Amino acid sequence: MAKKQEAEKHESKKDETKGAMTADCIFCKIVDGKIPSKKFYEDNTVIAFLDINPAAFAHSLVVPKLHFKTIVDGTPDQVGKTFIGVKNVTEHMKTRLKCDGFNILINQGREAGQIIEHFHIHVVPRFKSDNIRFIPPDHKASDAELDQAFNKLK
Ligand code: 5GP
Ligand code: ZN
Repeated sequence: MAKKQEAEKHESKKDETKGAMTADCIFCKIVDGKIPSKKFYEDNTVIAFLDINPAAFAHSLVVPKLHFKTIVDGTPDQVGKTFIGVKNVTEHMKTRLKCDGFNILINQGREAGQIIEHFHIHVVPRFKSDNIRFIPPDHKASDAELDQAFNKLK
């Protein structure tokens, strides 16, 4: 196939994907610059910008430029490169903010709290003195419960 045809085929495939999956997606609009954001990092695969409803100071979102909904829907390459973006963003934040740690979180699926159906990874910088606590339920599993889960997973 001639190079130009190949490029056109690729473009139309890209557009089809966009038309079908992303017309109303807020994060696609942020990626495209149609909705403003406080974007502070960009590479070939992802952007990172401040969350408008932060759980803590400088809470940020790492968002792949290509629309897919969850870690299961993305290809290994897309997901892997998104995590490389997370690594670069945490290094950048550590240098600039001098933070002491991070909470790095994915809400996957509506039941797990995913509101925006475009894959994203929350990166929340943490400081010794920030007094924020993300507290999981205080629950010690019984042996039976651990066995039940293990038997399903192994
Ligand atoms: P989810 O619950 O889907 O994992 O998180 C979506 C996140 O996106 C929320 O923390 C929310 O505050 C953030 N968010 C939603 N809409 C916008 C927006 O238009 N701009 C920015 N910067 N963040 C947004
Ligand atoms: Zn999208």
